[in-house]
Amino acid sequence: MKGQTAIITGSARGIGRTTAEEFAKRGVNVVIVDIDESIAKESAEEIKEQFGVASLGVKADVSKPEDVKVLFEEAVKKFEKVEILVNNAGITRDNLLIRMKDEEWDAVLNINLKGAFLCSREAVKVMSKIKYGRIINIASVVAFIGNAGQVNYSASKAGLVAMTKTIAKEYASRGITVNAVAPGFIQTAMTDKLPDKVKEEMLRMIPLSRFGTTQDVANAIIFLALPESGYITGQVIHVNGGMYM
Ligand code: NAP
Repeated sequence: MKGQTAIITGSARGIGRTTAEEFAKRGVNVVIVDIDESIAKESAEEIKEQFGVASLGVKADVSKPEDVKVLFEEAVKKFEKVEILVNNAGITRDNLLIRMKDEEWDAVLNINLKGAFLCSREAVKVMSKIKYGRIINIASVVAFIGNAGQVNYSASKAGLVAMTKTIAKEYASRGITVNAVAPGFIQTAMTDKLPDKVKEEMLRMIPLSRFGTTQDVANAIIFLALPESGYITGQVIHVNGGMYM
């Protein structure tokens, strides 16, 4: 992968940040994407200094087509090519169905699903030119098992899995593989805010008896991004400690 370029959305912290660092360790130039410009630029600078790769920090809201267009324009301007896209940016706005507000539904679907659609649409244009690409979507175990309070989030992640398979079929002939990683319960800011009772219940459901780390998820993403993984497409790798088999 050395010398390639990876765009990782939502990569200033959490799973995205660890993934960006793992790419950088392998000599991959990284594009750090966050809604906050200073956070994106600071994170890109830190990674450049720590790992000695070229990096770019871009402010983009992945749910906005104009932002996503600019993101890819800036990436191509700096690196000429983009071989890897990780659609990682995601949010939760939990509520039981009866209380779920339209805005909560829209926010989650727009960022988690439409955001991945917009980024993938730009990515395939760039990747088709070099007849090579790796698109990796970060789904979730709840796409497969559901989760009370997450009607919006689980629908967005199930949509992402279906989208993964469709884009994999459409772009296989261009050398672009499209896969998903479905994390279980991973310790990040997203899960830190859950009540202790929910965390205890979750832990009981995990045969490996621990929550996952951002490193566990990044390892699977790196595997799918390798040139050697070119015969794997339209697949989901579950990283959940056995929570769902
Ligand atoms: P996180 O710590 O909350 O990080 C999410 C990142 O996405 C943040 O950097 C956030 O930026 C960014 N982001 C949010 N909205 C965005 C937007 N509109 N445009 C661009 N960036 C945006 O979350 P995480 O736990 O690492 O999760 C990463 C991915 O894994 C998500 O897709 C999540 O659904 C998925 N996942 C996580 C778990 C888990 O247990 N943690 C389990 C299954 C799946 P700000 O910092 O500016 O808000």
